[in-house]
Amino acid sequence: MANAVQAIRGMNDILPAESPRWQFVEARFGQLMAGYGYQQIRLPIVEKTELFKRSIGEVTDIVEKEMYTFADRNGDSLSLRPEGTAGCVRAAIQNGLLNQGTQKLWYAGPMFRHERPQKGRYRQFYQLGVEVFGLPGPDIDAELIILTARLWQQLGLADDVRLELNTLGTSEARRAYREVLVEYFSAHQAQLDEDSQRRLHSNPLRILDSKNPDLQALIEAAPRLQDHLDSESAEHFARLRELLEAVGIEYRVNPRLVRGLDYYAKTVFEWVTDRLGAQGTVCAGGRFDGLVEQLGGKPTPAMGFALGMERLVALLDEHPFDETPYRPHAYLVLPGAEAEVAGLRLAEQLRDACPLLRLQVHCGGGSLKSQMKKADRSGAALALILGEEELSSQHVMVKDLRGDTRQKGVAQAQLAAFLARHFSLA
Ligand code: ATP
Ligand code: MG
Repeated sequence: MANAVQAIRGMNDILPAESPRWQFVEARFGQLMAGYGYQQIRLPIVEKTELFKRSIGEVTDIVEKEMYTFADRNGDSLSLRPEGTAGCVRAAIQNGLLNQGTQKLWYAGPMFRHERPQKGRYRQFYQLGVEVFGLPGPDIDAELIILTARLWQQLGLADDVRLELNTLGTSEARRAYREVLVEYFSAHQAQLDEDSQRRLHSNPLRILDSKNPDLQALIEAAPRLQDHLDSESAEHFARLRELLEAVGIEYRVNPRLVRGLDYYAKTVFEWVTDRLGAQGTVCAGGRFDGLVEQLGGKPTPAMGFALGMERLVALLDEHPFDETPYRPHAYLVLPGAEAEVAGLRLAEQLRDACPLLRLQVHCGGGSLKSQMKKADRSGAALALILGEEELSSQHVMVKDLRGDTRQKGVAQAQLAAFLARHFSLA
């Protein structure tokens, strides 16, 4: 046999055994978005490299070392998208969406970062994300947090995650704070690691985000952004906290939460879990009021978040999961050539009469016994058997594969109604 080609490290196949959980999350998210009046936007996976440099920031992990960048055949530098916000902002500007009033948008799809693959961290991973354009107030910040809280509830994960919240101030306040930080870290320059040395002048806020244990004491003692906050951001943050408290959302203010991308200002938040080890951030977002203008659009306030599908699915794996809705209701068993003809016809009649029915028709022939084995393995609740006797009497034998209800004959003419009733298919 020839050598089999392997997938790229960090780029996973989502196999059939795992896909029900993915479908579950995606379906709940889609329903949630419709329920809050958000519209889907579908974006390209490849964009000009410049877009990411100008939005995420040149001195960030993503742009410095994680992007999949390549030259197009005509020489343009392109990149696989490492996140969704930049493309979404580009699309909103380019298509004039920002002149059409408030935009509440969501997207889903794969992102690409050349990181070290490990549990919860991959090179191709999937995000569900939301971006809202045109709303400057804390009410929309609150709405995004509230709707994510509802999502955890609907996924049965409410007890697994907690909310961390911070404000970064306006970009002006951050500029002033930045000077204070540079002064502080410069005074302790010898203690900084290589990454932090480099960031000292280009992006000192990111030093606060460092995971290096040797730096934690230094970071802990650093001047706090809270003490350099502008009054506009402080009021915005206070109002957000008030709104969250009014609807009973618990949170912890984490003054060290800065997020790894340059474009955030004011509100930032993360939903984190202790159940997944080091990769504990399930969902992260914040306000990015300056980004639209930075990318050539008219000044437009904006707020968004993205959640990591792999980490959510990993959390779901920790709980019992009901696969029944992802399995067939019924499996049609057709022993013999004559049954095959009648069975195919019957199956289509059932589908006409009962569009919500999940019916798997046996293909590939074989004995009654081997077909019954496959019916069982399919996970179906019922086997519908079309044997010789049933053929001549225009019945099917209905066998309960999961319980111990006695099998019984049902007239083919009554079968659709029987199944609709049995499975409550309105
Ligand atoms: P982290 O701190 O874990 O590196 P991040 O700040 O880089 O996360 P964001 O860019 O904010 O992450 O992306 C939002 C979410 O996407 C994260 O909270 C996480 O759930 C998920 N995510 C980010 N990078 C990866 C990755 N390489 N593999 C799997 N999921 C990821
Ligand atoms: Mg990261």
